[in-house]
Amino acid sequence: MSTNRKIITNGYIITMDDNLGDLPNGAVLIEGNKIVAVAESAEDFTGIEAEVIDAEGGIILPGIVDSHRHTWMSLLRAISADMSLPEFLVNTFYRIGSVVTAEDMGAATLVGSLEAIDSGVTTIMDCCDCVNTPDHGIAAVESLRQTGIRGVYAYGMQHYDFQPRAFHEHSERLRDAERLLKDQFSSDSLVKMGILMSDYGTLPFEHSAAEFNKGADMGVLMCSHTGAATSSLLLKGLREFKDHNLIRPNHLHIHCNGFTDPEWEIVKETGGKVSISPETEMQMGMGHPPFRKSLEHGIMPSFSTDIVCVGSGDLFSQMRLGLQFQRTIDNDKVHANGTMPMTIDLSVRDALRWATQGGAEALGLGDEIGSLTPGKKADVIIVSAKRSFVPSSYPAGTVVLQTTAADVDTVIIDGEIKKRHGELVGQDLFLVRARATQALERMRKAAEKLPLADAAGIKQWWTIGERMATKSFGEAYKTGLMV
Ligand SMILES: [Zn+2]
Repeated sequence: MSTNRKIITNGYIITMDDNLGDLPNGAVLIEGNKIVAVAESAEDFTGIEAEVIDAEGGIILPGIVDSHRHTWMSLLRAISADMSLPEFLVNTFYRIGSVVTAEDMGAATLVGSLEAIDSGVTTIMDCCDCVNTPDHGIAAVESLRQTGIRGVYAYGMQHYDFQPRAFHEHSERLRDAERLLKDQFSSDSLVKMGILMSDYGTLPFEHSAAEFNKGADMGVLMCSHTGAATSSLLLKGLREFKDHNLIRPNHLHIHCNGFTDPEWEIVKETGGKVSISPETEMQMGMGHPPFRKSLEHGIMPSFSTDIVCVGSGDLFSQMRLGLQFQRTIDNDKVHANGTMPMTIDLSVRDALRWATQGGAEALGLGDEIGSLTPGKKADVIIVSAKRSFVPSSYPAGTVVLQTTAADVDTVIIDGEIKKRHGELVGQDLFLVRARATQALERMRKAAEKLPLADAAGIKQWWTIGERMATKSFGEAYKTGLMV
């Protein structure tokens, strides 16, 4: 059946598959939800009945992967543009999170995942750490499904002061996550389930341990904001968890800015993965985006947008910022020796690998996505050359350093067209806007009644948090519990 097959042609293909390389005028054959073949020329597919997708001289590449994105905060655009991490946590995250209803969650998740698709992201790790009631989780999963994005829905364990309170005990939340997995997910779901752990140190050690154990029972991907506050004890705890054999392989560690070398070794030894969000990390005082450290420990990093409360929801921006940041640091080391850098070590292709294969592996999907390899899932995007008047002299360079969401012409996920000729398809965008605007208005009104902390209040809040962390990690070694 012709409608089941697609041939993408008339573009420069970057396969991100080492055996296939780049094909300057190649073609990709898709059948159903799979890539069937990649050829040097569309002539190789002569006679095959298929819908032809003309890339019009653009760049054809695998869909990119955002390994950490809080879509529930998608309506709060740029609200924290001048905030540090402690200020963001007090005045945005916990303050507004405490008034988010299930309907707000549904509207925000819809907007966030559509924004991701619009910018060429075909797979996300949706970090949903605002599950105020059981309905919140259901609303988020429904919205993800409505957009047709691939990904992992990471059920967040974080607690907010939401009224009326739905979860009275930590164990109730764990049971709710298990219920959601049972009710909403099957093995062939495009969106799989994961768990985003409560931030380390903000709860008793035994509760963190219970989250690790529940994730192991459920057999789902686990992630955490680990070491995300350089020079603070908060969000640490790797040694304590390792001493209790709690960390399972493929755990996704988000940010990792404050890790010591022994902590990087723990990530490596336990088979961990790494997600880096350059924009929020650089702004909010989390520390340096740790690309070099990750590479030095043999771990391929991945990129993430984190939140649109700060920067762009466009992963190309994160590639550009992250790569150029690391090049600055690398070059500074050469300058420190009194010489000029004569060559550049990290390449745009490295950054593109982290955004495709790195993201795929971070989400445990390395065999299914991340390259245009026959047999993999048909997640393909086309970056247009129309706005630049002339074709790129180095397509990988254009993708990483020059592309924005406006240049993304076509997005295909699991063989289905989600964006074509620069427009999202299959969604009533008028309704999406109306629903999102109403939700934002409701959240604003509800949050108006809550106080904003000043500088002294923010400092006090953080200090209390650090004392909680000292207590929590200390509990790991109390008599009878320790190795
Ligand atoms: Zn996050």
